[in-house]
This record gives sequence, structure tokens and C-alpha cells, in this order.
Amino acid sequence: MRKPIIAGNWKMNKTNAEAEKLIGELKPLVADAKCEVVICVPYTCIATAVKATAGSNIAVGAENVAWADAGAFTGEISAEMLKEIGTEYVIIGHSERRQMFGETDETVNKRTVQALKNGLKPIVCVGETLAERESGKTETVVKTQVKGGFDGISAADLKNVVVAYEPVWAIGTGKTATSEQAEETIKYIRSVFADLYGKSVADELRIQYGGSMNPKNASELMAQPDIDGGLIGGASLKAEDFAKVVKY
Ligand code: PEP
Repeated sequence: MRKPIIAGNWKMNKTNAEAEKLIGELKPLVADAKCEVVICVPYTCIATAVKATAGSNIAVGAENVAWADAGAFTGEISAEMLKEIGTEYVIIGHSERRQMFGETDETVNKRTVQALKNGLKPIVCVGETLAERESGKTETVVKTQVKGGFDGISAADLKNVVVAYEPVWAIGTGKTATSEQAEETIKYIRSVFADLYGKSVADELRIQYGGSMNPKNASELMAQPDIDGGLIGGASLKAEDFAKVVKY
């Protein structure tokens, strides 16, 4: 059985004071959650978030990680630095990074390898743009992203990975994929992993949906057999909304 995982992606939002307040409100609301609860926060909020969530059922994640151990990589943050301050998860290959910061399947792969080597659990994002969906390329796009992003990663390492299927056209747009669209593509992504790693490994892999998931649509999406959780942007910035998604 795959344990559902709901992860917030705060993106570039919240100061430390705001993070402390939001986590303080969130903790009691999700204390009895049946799923795994994660908040992925800006680097500057990680230490605060780790302290504020101590002893709770909320794990803390980062929103990116460098592919190198250390050195001349101005502006990057290493896996060792993240581990040292209590980070457990890390989002890799979010579409905003792919679109605005030149992230490619190759760099996603390098970051994922580095995260796993250092005991961080990657949440690896894949997903098609609207033009790609409308021209019938969704499956080709996600297959290429999976093959490139997971090149050389072992079946044993895959146990510590979460995949997030995020159609780019649904992120931050208020336009959610229908539960049928989300299920269809996530089922396809699982079949790609089955081809690469075998069915039993693919059956254990948790695959989230992300893209304007909110308190209203979470339960229908989560009712789909292949959807194991959500990566939540906008709705993770308010404790009540995020808690409602967690309790889909
Ligand atoms: C995201 O940032 O991964 C995301 C899904 O954002 P939103 O929920 O706001 O669409």
C-alpha cells in the first residue's frame, strides 16, 4: 500500500515570522492526518520550519538542491547544507525552474542523484505544457522527462523518491486537470516506471498530482487509484486551506 503524501510548495513566499505563524496554525489542524504531510519552504525558512514542526507530523522540504558537493556554484545550496539543518524532502525540476531557470532533464537527473546520495528524499516534477497537451504530446513529454530525470537511478533508490505529475497549464492558473486527465497521465507515468524498473517497483512508487489542487477538488483527485498525493502551491499558503487538502 502506498501511503498518500500531501506536500505544500510555498515557492518564494513567507518570511521567517510568517512561516512561524503559518506553521503554528497548521500543526493542530493536521495533527490527526492520515497521510504524510510535508511543507517545502524557501531556503531561508527551513531552519525556522524545522524548529516549528519539531515533534509534529509535518516534515520539511526544500525547493531545490545543488548537484555538486561544494565549490564555485554561486547562489546554490548543497545537499549537505540542507541535511545539516534538518531538511527531509526536496522538490526537483519544478516547471517554474524548468521554464525560468533553465532546468533540464539532465540537471534534474544530477540534482536527484545528489539528493539521494545525501539522504534527501526528492519530489521530482514532470508535466506537459498546454501546447504539448493540445498537440497530443503529453505521453511523449512525460516519458522523456522520466527517462532523462531518472537515468542511472536504482530501484533501491526509487523507494525514497516521490514523483509529482504537474501539468504546466494547471499550475497557479486555477485550472485543474480533471480527475480523469490526472489519473490517465499518472497511470501512464507508472507504466513508464514499470517498463524501466519492473511492475512491483512501479506499484510502490508514490506519484502525486499538482496543479491548482485545493480544498474543493482534492477529494475527487485523491479518489483516483493511481494518485497518491498532491503537490500544493497556492492552497498551501493558508493553514485552513492546506489542512482541508491534507484531510481530503
Ligand atoms: C506547484 O507549485 O507545484 C503548484 C501545483 O501550484 P498551484 O497549486 O498553485 O497550482
